[in-house]
Amino acid sequence: MFSPDQAWQTILTHAQQLAAVNVPLSAALSRTLRTPIYAETDAPPFDAAAMDGYALQQNSRSAPLRVIGTSQAGLAFAGSVGPGECVRIFTGAPVPSGADCVVKQEEVTRSGESVQITSAPGPHYIRRRGENCRAGAVLVAAGTRLGPPELAALAGAGCTQPSVTRIPRCVHLVTGNELVGPDQIPTGAQIRDSNSTLIAALLAGAGAELAGQARVTDDLTTARAVAEALPVHDILLISGGASVGDHDIARPLLESLGYTLHFHALNLRPGKPLVFATRGEQLAFALPGNPVSHWVVFQLFLAPLLRYLATGTTTPRPQIKGRLQAIAGLPSVDARQTFWPCRAELGDGHYELTPLPLASSGDSSGLVGANALLPVPTPPTNLQIGQSVSFILCP
Ligand code: AMP
Ligand code: MG
Repeated sequence: MFSPDQAWQTILTHAQQLAAVNVPLSAALSRTLRTPIYAETDAPPFDAAAMDGYALQQNSRSAPLRVIGTSQAGLAFAGSVGPGECVRIFTGAPVPSGADCVVKQEEVTRSGESVQITSAPGPHYIRRRGENCRAGAVLVAAGTRLGPPELAALAGAGCTQPSVTRIPRCVHLVTGNELVGPDQIPTGAQIRDSNSTLIAALLAGAGAELAGQARVTDDLTTARAVAEALPVHDILLISGGASVGDHDIARPLLESLGYTLHFHALNLRPGKPLVFATRGEQLAFALPGNPVSHWVVFQLFLAPLLRYLATGTTTPRPQIKGRLQAIAGLPSVDARQTFWPCRAELGDGHYELTPLPLASSGDSSGLVGANALLPVPTPPTNLQIGQSVSFILCP
């Protein structure tokens, strides 16, 4: 049986970064940039005033100066400033030739077209051409995840169609004779399907597209027909029926669809019956139906896989430290590697971690508030309240 780390390595050997596409800036937030963006020009493109005031020559600041014109943002003064002259200037406006400083408007007295400076020499208040960056400099490197500052830099460089990794297309097939929709009233042995909503929300949060989603009974023939009608996809997710019970159809379904299985049971709790399969470049997972297993397996494998598909690189899980607030919710000793859903909250500058007291991996209401996973050391009874532990923050 694979360990979670072996499972992850197996997934990686079958995954590759998705192709690049050009998208408008409005669609580029949080996407991975594929080609570097260079500065088109020096920035600022000209010497510019850093203050509202007057542009002049330092060495003529003691005598009264004649105002010979105005330079404003977007409309430069065309002439040149000589000794005994100054130009009214505003922040961002080009500094006229001849001037070597800007004096703040608060430091002059003006009467008519004459200006007298009232302060001692100070800063020149000029933003020099190219002081932010030079033409040709890399503004945003390939591989960068585009956040608001990066998008603004692209806009400033005139890059309106950046090349970014295309969004992974996922489809989700939910299986279970017992399932009815959230808008239906379960009767008898029925329960509501909560995993469809869970997966849709997890995919949306991870920046993936849910191109299709369907719910079927545990009937292989029907499930296969529905699966074959799903839209084109990179990742197929099957919920439920991942184990080897009489009504567990995920594995035969994957095989009948032409997928090759790479693992179908992990030394993992919760989530042991996770199945991973591939068909060409398409990846498929059958997730054990329990909602807690769904959430844990998504955080451990699917969220990092989606990041890998976008970036083509793996980063080690950040080891965030937190102080254990309770141990009551933690499970009993188990031979499997356990990752326990927790609530992490920032206290006074550090995380406080509370394991969720889940009745079982079927406890979907108990999962409310989960935003972290605690890799539980064995035996878990060694953990003490107040102890510092490493955990995985799940965004
Ligand atoms: P399975 O993996 O199909 O054996 O299901 C394991 C448990 O998860 C069973 O108690 C199922 O009823 C439950 N379950 C399966 N699918 C869902 C779902 N979509 N929503 C909520 N619970 C589910
Ligand atoms: Mg089932």
